[in-house]
Amino acid sequence: MKIINLLKEEKLSLSFEVFPPKTETSFESVKSATEEIAKLKPAFMSVTYGAGGGTSKYTLDIAKNIKKMYGVPTLAHLTCVSSTRETVRERIEEIKEAGIENVMALRGDIPKEMENDDRNKWDYKHAINLVYELKSFEPSLCIGAACYPEIHPESTNQKDDIKHLKEKVDAGCDFLTTQMFFDNNLLYNFLYKIREAGITVPVIPGIMPITNANQVERAIKLSGSFMPQRFKSLVDKFGSSPSAMKQAGIAYATDQIIDLYANNITNVHVYSMNKPDVAEKIQSNLSDILGR
Ligand code: FAD
Repeated sequence: MKIINLLKEEKLSLSFEVFPPKTETSFESVKSATEEIAKLKPAFMSVTYGAGGGTSKYTLDIAKNIKKMYGVPTLAHLTCVSSTRETVRERIEEIKEAGIENVMALRGDIPKEMENDDRNKWDYKHAINLVYELKSFEPSLCIGAACYPEIHPESTNQKDDIKHLKEKVDAGCDFLTTQMFFDNNLLYNFLYKIREAGITVPVIPGIMPITNANQVERAIKLSGSFMPQRFKSLVDKFGSSPSAMKQAGIAYATDQIIDLYANNITNVHVYSMNKPDVAEKIQSNLSDILGR
């Protein structure tokens, strides 16, 4: 099932993001966690891609398993970082063979050891280059890409960021998924600006339930997201109690999702990562709204 078709639903639906194992020894435990999440029957599940290379084949292994065992549509991530024309073509063949119809085209997080690389020598420097390649090599794929309500950390201003986003969408993106954010007004403001810039594809907001205090620092470092005072107070109050922090973080994310749906946003992507209990709790908090 193509994600673009799932996005036509008018009722709220959730999708969940998982990441592949980093080593072969953790494959079975990751596989089992992703299966638990698939049993919740989300609209789709996305599987991230380790931009460092090495374990990238596990992305497809996990995506294939979810689809085969539970019939949940999957979105396989693919990055420019550590990809060559040859490896991308190989991945596309594998994706087709596995019956996966959706690919997320990303630049990728730059691993430490590649920070000083001459990026002009990469086969794909920006996500747009990957979008072109995917569209020309396999036009039937449904292609997603990333967008940043609080601008991408490497961009100097939002105008340039949105200009590049428009070019990326025009290259052949069917939908966009946002970076995490903790203040919905940032998303509403961003949507207004990108619609004004002529970007018309569906945008799926990405919500990350913060379930422990250590995650806060990591999340801000990675995404540069703004932490509203309301969220900071919650971390101050509950950060030292793991179970209370988890409950409060899930409640905060649930609240964000309810507000998004109240503002007519019907698809929300949840960065619950490989935590079935978190995915399950978010879903059960919304059971009547989801009609389950
Ligand atoms: P791009 O679209 O290439 O943009 C990166 C920067 O370059 C931006 O500042 C943009 O404005 C600028 N830019 C774009 N095009 C041009 C151009 N033609 N000329 C000049 N500047 C340009 N990382 C992983 O490693 N694996 C994953 O699986 C993964 N999944 C993700 C899923 C989502 C939903 C999101 C939001 C992020 C994900 N990331 C992942 C992180 C992502 O790879 C990083 O945020 C990365 O820094 C940028 O990726 P991008 O695809 O947005 O890049």
